[in-house]
Amino acid sequence: MRDSYPPLEPPKRLLLGPGPSPVEPRIYEALRKPIVGHLDPFLFDVAAEIRELLQYVFETRNELTLVISGTGTSGMEAAVSNFVEPGAKVAVFVNGYFCERIAEMVRRQGAELVRLERPWGEAFDAGEAREFIRRERPAVVAFVHGETSTGVVQDGKAICEAAHEVGAIVIADTVTTLGNMPVKVDETGIDVAYSCSQKGLACTPGLAPITVSPRAAERLRQPSAPNRSFYLDLRLLEDYYHYRRYHHTASASLLYAMREALAIVYEEGLERRFERIRTNHRAFVAGIEAMGLEMLVAEPHRLWPLNTPRLPEGIDDVKVRQCLLNEFGIEVLGGFGPLAGKVLRVGIMGAGSTKENVLAVLEALERALAAQGWRAKASGREAAEAFYGQLSASPASTGAQA
Ligand code: PLP
Repeated sequence: MRDSYPPLEPPKRLLLGPGPSPVEPRIYEALRKPIVGHLDPFLFDVAAEIRELLQYVFETRNELTLVISGTGTSGMEAAVSNFVEPGAKVAVFVNGYFCERIAEMVRRQGAELVRLERPWGEAFDAGEAREFIRRERPAVVAFVHGETSTGVVQDGKAICEAAHEVGAIVIADTVTTLGNMPVKVDETGIDVAYSCSQKGLACTPGLAPITVSPRAAERLRQPSAPNRSFYLDLRLLEDYYHYRRYHHTASASLLYAMREALAIVYEEGLERRFERIRTNHRAFVAGIEAMGLEMLVAEPHRLWPLNTPRLPEGIDDVKVRQCLLNEFGIEVLGGFGPLAGKVLRVGIMGAGSTKENVLAVLEALERALAAQGWRAKASGREAAEAFYGQLSASPASTGAQA
C-alpha cells in the first residue's frame, strides 16, 4: 500500500489506434454532471433522445433501438444470445479476429456453426456470399462490417439479400463502422446491428448501441426458450427503456455521454462526417504510399477509419509503437494473429479524424521507422499536404478537410 493516493493524472495521449478514439470536451463535461437514478423520468427522456439519434446514425426506422450497458462485445453477445438458438444453423463469414469471436459465441450457444473463410485482409465477394448462404440455408447469418483486426470493410448487400431469400436473419457487427462510415441498416437489409461507443461515436467506452428490425423483433417474441442471458435479454431491456420497468442500474453518466456524442454527430451531419473521415483516410494512404509503404487491404475494401499499413521487412513493430507512444504521445496498435508484427493499425476515426492528426502520425511514423534505419522514399507528411492542397483547389471538395 502507498502512504496516500493523490488524484490520478492520466497521461495525455493522441488516440490513433483501433479505438478508443479521442473524446471531445463536451462529452467529458457530460460525464461530470450530477447523476439521477436509473428510474428517474429525466433519464428516460435522455434514453429516448439516444434512441432517436441512434436511429439517425444507424439509418434505420427500427423501433427496437437501444444501448446496452457494456462494451462492443456485450452488443455482440446480445445479438448472438437473443437470436441464435441452440441447435440452429448459423453461417458466419470469417476473415479476421472479430468474426472468429462471433463464431466462438455461436459455438458456445450450442448452435451448428458453418463458416465461409477468407484470408485476413480480404473481403468476400457477392457471388461466393450468395452461394454459401443458398447452399447452407442457415437460420442466422453473421458478418463483420468493419473488421478491425485487418482494416477490411465487408459489403453486406448480397449477404442480406441471400439470407432473406432463405428466411435467415442477418447480424452485422458495426463496431468500427457506426459513425465512421455509412452503415445504412434499412437499405442494406441488416436485421440486427450492434456497435460500441468508443470508436466512430467518439464517446468513452462502456455502451453498446443495438438495433433490431421488425422481422427479427418478431422472432424475439416467440423464442423456443428464454434467453440464457438475463443481463442481455433484449425483451427485458426493452421493458426497461420503453416501459420503465427495472432491469439493471443503468449508468446515468454514460447515458449523458452517449447523448452528447450522438448530438455532436447529428450536428455535423452524417454526410459531412463520412466525407471528412474518408478524406483523411485518403490523405493518410497518400502519405503512406509516398513513403514507400504498402497498405494491407486492396483499395475498394479499405475501412476509412482504420488503416493497416504493412511494416517493411526487418522492422520491429513493438519498437515502432513504443517510439510513437513515448516520443510523440501517439497510440497506434499492431497486428495480431496472422498479422502479428506485419502491420500497424492506425485509427483515424471519429473526432480524431483531422488533417492535423494525419500529418502528425505520418511524421511520427517516418521518424520511428528512421530510428530503425529505414529510409522513406519521400516525405509522407508532404505527400498528404499535397493531397489536401489538391482537394482545396477543387471546388467539389469544399469542407472535406475538417
Ligand atoms: N467487434 C469489432 C469489429 C471490434 O473492433 C471490437 C473491438 O475493437 C469488438 C467487436 C469488441 O468491442 P469491445 O472491445 O468494445 O468489447
